[in-house]
Amino acid sequence: MKVLQGLEPASVFGFFEDICNIPHISYHEKELSDYCVNFAKERGLDYKQDSMGNVIIIGEATPGYEDVEPIIIQGHLDMVGDKVPECPIDMEKEPIKVMIDGDYLTADGTTLGGDDGIAVAYGLALLDAKDIPHPRLEVVLTVSEEVGLEGATGIDLSCCKAKRLLNIDSEDEGVFTAGCAGGVRADCSIPGEAETKSGVVCEIKTQGFLGGHSGIEIDKGRANANTTMGRFFLLLKEKTAFDLVSIVGGVKDNVIPKNASATFLVAENDIEAVKAAVAEFNGYLDVEYGVSDPDIELVLEVKETAECKVLSEISKEKAITALNLMPNGVQAMSMDLPGLVETSLNMGVIQIDEEGINLCFSIRSSYVSAKDFIGAKLKQITEMLGGSVSFQGQYPGWPYARDSKLRDLCVKVYKEQYGKEPKIDVIHAGLECGILSSKVEGLDCISIGPDMSDVHTPDEKISISSVARVWEFLKAVLAEK
Ligand SMILES: [Zn+2]
Repeated sequence: MKVLQGLEPASVFGFFEDICNIPHISYHEKELSDYCVNFAKERGLDYKQDSMGNVIIIGEATPGYEDVEPIIIQGHLDMVGDKVPECPIDMEKEPIKVMIDGDYLTADGTTLGGDDGIAVAYGLALLDAKDIPHPRLEVVLTVSEEVGLEGATGIDLSCCKAKRLLNIDSEDEGVFTAGCAGGVRADCSIPGEAETKSGVVCEIKTQGFLGGHSGIEIDKGRANANTTMGRFFLLLKEKTAFDLVSIVGGVKDNVIPKNASATFLVAENDIEAVKAAVAEFNGYLDVEYGVSDPDIELVLEVKETAECKVLSEISKEKAITALNLMPNGVQAMSMDLPGLVETSLNMGVIQIDEEGINLCFSIRSSYVSAKDFIGAKLKQITEMLGGSVSFQGQYPGWPYARDSKLRDLCVKVYKEQYGKEPKIDVIHAGLECGILSSKVEGLDCISIGPDMSDVHTPDEKISISSVARVWEFLKAVLAEK
């Protein structure tokens, strides 16, 4: 018995349930990719599958639509695999259990993969329908979006004729995404020198930091655990002598770090001064982050006396300088679109010990020039401190187009269906539209999608009624001549 039987639109939910029954987390999309290929074969549709697993399926124009401009319908095949600790499902190999909860679909203990299985379901349902008028459809389904937009980066779109692309990977019905930031990762590396010292070992840790997505949440004023640690040592320097053993923090360049910890040595007599410095510093955090990150503090643990390898005095100075002088956070707000962050960076991961000082940043901007400028600043500071920078994983932005026929068409259809204006948004994060539009000269893109919440978590939900309304919207957009 199918769980989603009876839901409308039946074809969309039918394909969605099939997709839920095929494991398809990032890097494990082959089975779903093959399912799409079989779908095309069974219906005699032209298709292309590349070695990564990206699939393109062509649906020729229905009668009367041969002269209408073709359109790409696009989404990604992979999903984030996250689950609650007690869930026994092996998401690489076993299907999730989809459930209905009022107006929502969710999965039992795991992510649902509405992001972005719903786009795949819409695409297949459009290709499968006998009664939906449309121009030539080019359904483009990519792999490994969630792990760095890899499928979009690798795909060859030369078999596509369309110069317009409707991406279905947004999570708010009624919000059309019309631009996104580009970005790059910067790894700054400064060699260190070691000394051996003895003293009382002190450990300090961050606690209660909220962290977040380094694009979407960079303007929330939350504290960065790594730079906070740097600032603490700037204060401690004024209060007492100490030797630095290590500072480590963060998990990924594109996540605002929640956790950082440091180990340092002090003389027995200076322990009270350290405790006073921590208390003074926590007082500053309380006041400055009372609204944006109210529960943050540094927690000190005083341990035994020991002899250990520490950073030389000069390496310690370099580390504290790098943590405090490297730019971090929002650098510029957009003057085109109020409230949009234009340029930012996030000191995501740090590893500082006697072997060296390593800082990893995610830089984002709507403008390539502004992104490059931030990269140049990091390079200048790093080189002044005797180190070097490497840049990796560059991805192009999708600049907001002042004129977009596809956006105008979507706005017109939306107003007819909903009786109100949609919101047009530009996001400070990477989207596949950025990469795909850099591959096709003049590609006119927009990103839409039904209401979803808590994506990338086991609480992920998708609204059934919203899926139905977006289906009507899609059909109406395709019916326009
Ligand atoms: Zn997605």
